[in-house]
Formats: sequence, C-alpha cells, structure tokens
Amino acid sequence: MTDTPSYGFDTLQIHAGSRPDPATGARQTPIYQSTAYVFRDAEHAAALFNLQEVGYIYSRLTNPTVAVLQERVATMEGGVGAVCCSSGHAAQIMALFPLMAPGLNVVVSTRLYGGSITQFSQTIKRFGWSAKFVDFEDTAAIEAAIDDDTRAIFCESIANPGGYVTDLPAVAAIADKAGLPLIVDNTSATPYLCRPIEHGATLVVHSMTKYLTGNGTVTGGVVVDSGNFDWSASGKFPSLSEPEPAYHGLKFHETFGPLAFTFHGIAIGLRDLGMTLNPQAAHYTLMGIETLSLRMERHSQNAQKVAEWLEANPHVEKVTYAGLESSPYNARAKALFPKGTGGLFTVALKDGYDACVKFVGSLDLFSHVANLGDTRSLVIHPASTTHRQLTEEQQIAAGAGPNVVRISIGIEDADDLIRDLGQALDKASV
Ligand SMILES: *Cc1c(COP(=O)(O)O)cnc(C)c1O
Repeated sequence: MTDTPSYGFDTLQIHAGSRPDPATGARQTPIYQSTAYVFRDAEHAAALFNLQEVGYIYSRLTNPTVAVLQERVATMEGGVGAVCCSSGHAAQIMALFPLMAPGLNVVVSTRLYGGSITQFSQTIKRFGWSAKFVDFEDTAAIEAAIDDDTRAIFCESIANPGGYVTDLPAVAAIADKAGLPLIVDNTSATPYLCRPIEHGATLVVHSMTKYLTGNGTVTGGVVVDSGNFDWSASGKFPSLSEPEPAYHGLKFHETFGPLAFTFHGIAIGLRDLGMTLNPQAAHYTLMGIETLSLRMERHSQNAQKVAEWLEANPHVEKVTYAGLESSPYNARAKALFPKGTGGLFTVALKDGYDACVKFVGSLDLFSHVANLGDTRSLVIHPASTTHRQLTEEQQIAAGAGPNVVRISIGIEDADDLIRDLGQALDKASV
C-alpha cells in the first residue's frame, strides 16, 4: 500500500507500508536480517550515497523491515515520514538533534515521564543543550520561557504517569507564534486515541516499547515528521536550511522539502548517532500495531471501569484519570480524545508511602514492573522506583508524589482486575 489516505485507521494499522514481498510473495513483512545490500554497480552505489536514489546501503541507516514500520507509523500519525530508533529515549534525542546546538534550549512541560525529566534536566547538558521546565497549564509561563535561544517546545499528549491531558491546540498556537516546532510525545495516547499533528504538532515521538508493540517484548522508539514546518523561515535551524558540513554541504530543506527532517534523521542522525532499531524488534512492533485500535479501545474501557471503582474505595484519596468526571481535564480529554483516554492513571492512597509499598506487594494479577502499555496489567510505585531520582518537588509536579501508585490497565477482564485491587487495598491498610 502506498497512496491510501482514504482508508480508515483499522485498515491502515494492518496495511500501511506493507506489500507482498517482491522476492517471494511472502504476505507478512519478512524480517530482513541483513546488515548490507548489494549495489547493482558503482553508479547505483554513488546515487544511494548521494541520496539521489532511495534504497538500502547498510542497516544502521535503513532496513526494509524497519522501513515498513516507519511508513506505517508515519501514516497512522498523519505525518510524511518517520525514523525508527532503538528506544523512546533515543527518539527524543533524535528529534532534538537536528534543531539544537550548544547554548540552545528547549521549553518542556514539567508533566513528563520520569526518565524524560532526567534526560532533559541532566543528561542533555553534556551536549551543551538545556531544558526550561514549565507548568504547561500556565500558557503565559510557556511564552515567558521562550527566548532567542529556544529551538523547540516539548510535551506529552496524555502525560505519563497519567491523568494529565496537555492542551495541545493552545500549546501549538504558542509554538506557531514563536516560529518553533512543537514536539509531542504521544506514547500514552497512541495515534488511535490522538493524532497530535492534527492539533498542530510538528514532530511526534513515541516509545514503541509501550502500546505500539503492546506486549512488553521490544524496546523501540520513533520520530514522526508532520512535514509542515518551514525550516528555512527563521534561520534558526541551519542544519536543515543551510549547507550541512556533515553531509558534504547538502541543503536538506531545499533538497527534500517536507521530507527534510526525515532524511536528516536517517542520513545524519542514524548514521552518526547510531541509535538504530533492529529488524527483529521492528517485526514484533509491526505485529503489535496490527491490533492497536482493538487494544486501545479495551485498555480505555477497562481503565474507565477500574478508575471509577477505585475512586469509590474508602482507602483511596484520589484517582487521576482524565476519563473521570472528577478530573479537571475531563472536558479537554473528551474534546481531544473522543475515543477514550487510554489505560494509564495514578491512584493516591490515604495511608501514604508505606501503604503503597504494601499494596503493590499484595497484588496477584498485576505485575510490579517498570513498564506500561502491556496487554497485562502493570503497577509501579514511582516515588520508590522510576521517579526516585527526582526531588519530592519534581515528583509532585510530575504527578508522582510519595503516596501515588501508577497503574497501567491491561486488556484482561475488568472484574478480575477490580477483585485483585480490592484484596490488595484491604491488606495495605491494616
Ligand atoms: C517509556 C517512555 C519513554 C522512554 O521510552 P523507552 O522506550 O523506555 O526509552 C518516553 N516517554 C514516555 C511517555 C514513556 O512512557
């Protein structure tokens, strides 16, 4: 399938990017477990290296199995191209890499996955980049944080650990006014529930480790390009608009137009940073994506049912699920995510940190793991695990204070999940 914009989501998640294998007729996408590809002749090789012809050279850059996944995710997100990477965190670096240089900054939401807060507040400093953290509910503060050295705005659609929905149209309007690309991490929502490009995002990143693969078998990430941003307008993105010394003076935007970011990501990002997704992982993710809509529907239905039950439980102080009427983000969720609010939320227990540790240890059906977006239900206590390297202030800002447990609701029978949560809450509070 190539030009098929009229197909619905359920069709695209199975067919986009894939065609019967030209060599064998294989209907399922083969795993091309090959490092290199034979050039027809020297001229063919030269054309490939000059990016005058699209093809395969070496699997650090491009691989036929990975290419199918890239086209599939790009199509599902409504983008023009995508670059798969070895993890969600790799995708975040790959998204920023063409935009940033030493001394430049990115304005980011305080409500992010804990690992992203560490990546942005600490690790990117080694590259001379910095992040300015802002509460994205305060749109004036976002505008105030943007300065001449800002090159991007970064947020999550539904913020991990759940319950917070970013006002994407409002943030996109600010990015637009400032002439900056908006990067949205759409991991928790997936393109089935939300397509950030339709709300003004320039780039969409995913940890494919989560819902896209959906069964806890793969670590992977992807950067999707909307193709909508004018990289040459402001002079702020010379790696895309000016002759790029890392690719013998090629001008990516002039040469590739809306595909400039995608080509840059492959030709320079993957070539020189090497955060490449392997074909076996791409295969598992393609398998997972075939059922994405079915799973997200069930994740959302189950999470709604379980969140409502938990909210009424006497041991529970608060449930932050945007699908609940009590959530301050309920109306926004209904507007941005009409098909459901996903499977991720947090629950705060009245009895504090120790009760949370006991609760997590008393669950049978839920697995205590540092993952989310699996078919099976998962639970974690962020303050003692994923968010333990953050200050208590950062934990609370990220919605992961000491008495908060994050729950990733799977696609099992909701009644079984409720029974398990009930017995564990009873044990935790004695
Ligand atoms: C897990 C996660 C990441 C990081 O992805 P990895 O694949 O673990 O590197 C980034 N953002 C969000 C929202 C996540 O849930």
